[in-house]
Amino acid sequence: MRLYLLELGTIRYYKDRPVCGYLIRCDDGTDVLVDTGPARDADPDSPIIARTDPGLLDQLAAIGVTPADIDIVVCSHLDPDHAGNHDLFPDAEFVIQQSHLELARSGTESRLEATRHRWDLPHLKYRTVDGDVTLVPGIELIESSGHITGHQSVLVRLPGAGAMLLAVDAITQEAAMDPENRPMTRFDLDADAARASTRKLIDLAEQENAMVIRNHDPKQWPTLTQWPSFYE
Ligand SMILES: [Zn+2]
Repeated sequence: MRLYLLELGTIRYYKDRPVCGYLIRCDDGTDVLVDTGPARDADPDSPIIARTDPGLLDQLAAIGVTPADIDIVVCSHLDPDHAGNHDLFPDAEFVIQQSHLELARSGTESRLEATRHRWDLPHLKYRTVDGDVTLVPGIELIESSGHITGHQSVLVRLPGAGAMLLAVDAITQEAAMDPENRPMTRFDLDADAARASTRKLIDLAEQENAMVIRNHDPKQWPTLTQWPSFYE
C-alpha cells in the first residue's frame, strides 16, 4: 500500500497555506483519492484560493494514474478547496458522511455552494456512511465534525511507514493538536464539536502510534514526503 501526498492549491487568504489531497494505492489494485482540491479553473493568481500548476490530473498522471483508475473518492467535506473537481471522476464511488451530504444538499451552508456545480451532479455516485467505518482493509474513515458537520478524517495503516492520520481540516496546524486550547478559525463552525473531534483524533493517533498529517500547514508540509514520492 502506498500513500501519496498531493499539493492541489494554496490558500492565499491565510498567508499561503497549502491545500493537500491524498492518493492511496492499495495492494489489490484499489485506488482511493481523498478530496479533489480547488477547482481546476480556479485562478492560479487568486488572492483567496488558488490552484497549483501542475494540477490534480497532472500529478496523478506523473504517478501513472488516470481518472478512470480511481475507484473511490473519499470526501472529507465539500468546502471549495476540497471538492472542486469531483466531476472528473464519473467512474468512482464518492464516500461521504451522511450528515455532511444532507447539510450540503440542504443548501443552508453558503460556503458549500461555491462548487456545487462540481459535486452535485446526477451522474456522480455517492455512498453515505454514518460515523467511523472501515473503508477497505487498512483504511478507516473517522467522523470528525466541528470544522463543519460530518467532516471526516482518514486513518491509513501502511505496512512500512506505520499508521498515518489524515486529519484534513479537523486539525490544520500544530497549535490545533491541543484539544482544550486549540485556536479556531471563522470556518470552524462548532467549537465544542471541533474540540471533541480533536481529542478523538489525538487519542486515536496515540493508540495507533500514527503520524498526524495536517492539511493547510505551511510548517509541516515541507517536512513531509510529497508526490511523486510516497509513504509505504
Ligand atoms: Zn480546507
